[in-house]
Amino acid sequence: MKLAETVTFGGSGLDRAAYIRGDEARLGKALKGDDPVVLPIWRGKPLMADGPDGSVLMWLAGDHSGLADAPAERLFLGLDDGVMRFAADVSAWQPEALDTEAMNSFADESLQMHPAIEGAHFRELRLAMTELTPRDAELAATANAMLGWHRSHRFCAACGKESQFADAGWKRQCPACNTQHFPRTDPVVIMLITNGNDLLIGRSPGWPEGMYSLLAGFVEPGEPMEAAVRREVFEETGVTVGAVNYLSSQPWPYPSSLMFGCIGEATSRDITLDPVELEDAVWISREDLTMALAGHHPTILPARKGAIAQFLMENWLADRLD
Ligand SMILES: [Zn+2]
Repeated sequence: MKLAETVTFGGSGLDRAAYIRGDEARLGKALKGDDPVVLPIWRGKPLMADGPDGSVLMWLAGDHSGLADAPAERLFLGLDDGVMRFAADVSAWQPEALDTEAMNSFADESLQMHPAIEGAHFRELRLAMTELTPRDAELAATANAMLGWHRSHRFCAACGKESQFADAGWKRQCPACNTQHFPRTDPVVIMLITNGNDLLIGRSPGWPEGMYSLLAGFVEPGEPMEAAVRREVFEETGVTVGAVNYLSSQPWPYPSSLMFGCIGEATSRDITLDPVELEDAVWISREDLTMALAGHHPTILPARKGAIAQFLMENWLADRLD
């Protein structure tokens, strides 16, 4: 698909500069200066400020007091037009009043202001992602996925001892048994399943009322992507799928997925729901989907802005999947 990399989180050509990851002297020097080079992330929310076109990422100097709650190690993200960029996990910071209801909601609109950081706030990346430049989006997605991995993989999977941050964050090393652990990316298929003029969409239990999206599911070990598309669609709806093709991918750092956008031709139409996975699934016509994406459909709401599901649906409607 020609437009594949224009999806949100579709990449900005960030130079990840792996050769610098072991260069302690160079990493240390960049973190000692006054240059704002560190992106703090609090419980999955990057530090942001209001820019002219929406949110922009906010960077702090290596020794800024707003980073006091972060572990000493800094994750090296790469070279952003020659500027070294890092991220730090400040999740240990406890705001005075926390809106836990908002934090646990489907779309957390709450902002957290750190007393040591002026003119910025921690904001949910899913709400800000379409406002960020492609470069900021790639940096934030990488930082979120990597710091989330460090949080959830503290202990060695081979021997159970606490492992150590290594290679500027791109590895964890076990001091007890010497096993090396590398960051995870979990493949997920998400698919346009078509039948003539119609598209198969569904909704999971717990989603906001009226919200539907493309079917999706994790690829299982040993399973090709195409087979995962056919299996997931059949398990969730009983619909059988013939030819499957790959369209576009989207890193989805909540916490560590890589979405593979595919298109498959349905070879049956009858829907038998798996009630654990789906609350409802329907065939929607091009005309009805156009209304839904514009927010004019009486019962179906548009999918989340910036998510690959919406990107694929819009391009399917516009005949731009080539
Ligand atoms: Zn170990």
